[in-house]
Amino acid sequence: MKLHDVSWPSEAALKGGLLPWLETLPGASWLTLPGRDPNRHRVIVTLLHGNEPSGTNAFWHFVENTPECAVTTHFCLANVNAAKTNTPFTTRHLDGKPDMNRCFGRQGEDDSYEIADEILARITSLAPEAVVDLHNTSGTSPAFAVSIRDDDTHKQIASLFTKNMLCSDVRLGALMEMTSETSPIVTIECGGAGDRAAHDVAKKGLNDFMTAENLFQGHTGFWPIEMLYRPVRIQMQHDSALCYHDQKIDDADLTLAPDIDRHNFGRMAADTHIGWLGGRGLDALKTDDGKGGHPIASLFYEKDGELKLKAASKLFMITTRHDIALSDCLFYMVVD
Ligand SMILES: [Zn+2]
Repeated sequence: MKLHDVSWPSEAALKGGLLPWLETLPGASWLTLPGRDPNRHRVIVTLLHGNEPSGTNAFWHFVENTPECAVTTHFCLANVNAAKTNTPFTTRHLDGKPDMNRCFGRQGEDDSYEIADEILARITSLAPEAVVDLHNTSGTSPAFAVSIRDDDTHKQIASLFTKNMLCSDVRLGALMEMTSETSPIVTIECGGAGDRAAHDVAKKGLNDFMTAENLFQGHTGFWPIEMLYRPVRIQMQHDSALCYHDQKIDDADLTLAPDIDRHNFGRMAADTHIGWLGGRGLDALKTDDGKGGHPIASLFYEKDGELKLKAASKLFMITTRHDIALSDCLFYMVVD
């Protein structure tokens, strides 16, 4: 077994603090809190990415102030090993290991695939009425939810945390792609990993998620949901060079401003300057909308070496971390 059952932290562990307690964990960990109705279940997954602390931070808040849960509530802290490497909460996944949120429903050699399988097996056997998977964006951002389904159940879960929801056709092997009628799964991006507000989104949303008698009617946590459809994932081509700088870098295939993440979720007009291209022009970039549409030239154009927006758009999940931009993506976008 790669997923370990761990008991709820003791008073002594609580006094010692989160980081020393994390050090004691054997790896991917599963903790269970009893609720008023022992026969119903809800699951909170977090730390699939070791550099995204809001879910774990909220978990520790609930260790300190444990609410009366409506149903049996489970916490899964997934990539604990990455989270406690080097400076805690800075490593998305260990070197040479896959991104754990790309391993669900996928086959591979690494034990990350086994952990993903075991998490899914738990979810299947418990048949929880709802699952949330808490993340942070690497750049600063408002909170938003991501789902592959556009229905009330998924929106109601999302609405405990945020008013923005993306309905995505992109398939990467993420946990939320394993959603079902019985056990709806929604990703919550709480906001930037370094944003204080993101920790509050996680705490407030989880408090409602844990205590509401019925998640699907009559709770007070609802936000009216604003949907964004078919986000397009924008990536660099494999062998291209990326720089973050406030002016064009000559050897780079793409230069982006170091504070480009300030545009997260802002409405950007057509012709907005996004960055500077190199000798390969738009060919340095590629897109994925999950359906083979939205080629790069339908979204952007090049003028005097500048990368510009073709139409009014919203950009989100903009990272300013070079390693994540290259290994994952630069950002996602939706054309207005
Ligand atoms: Zn994440």
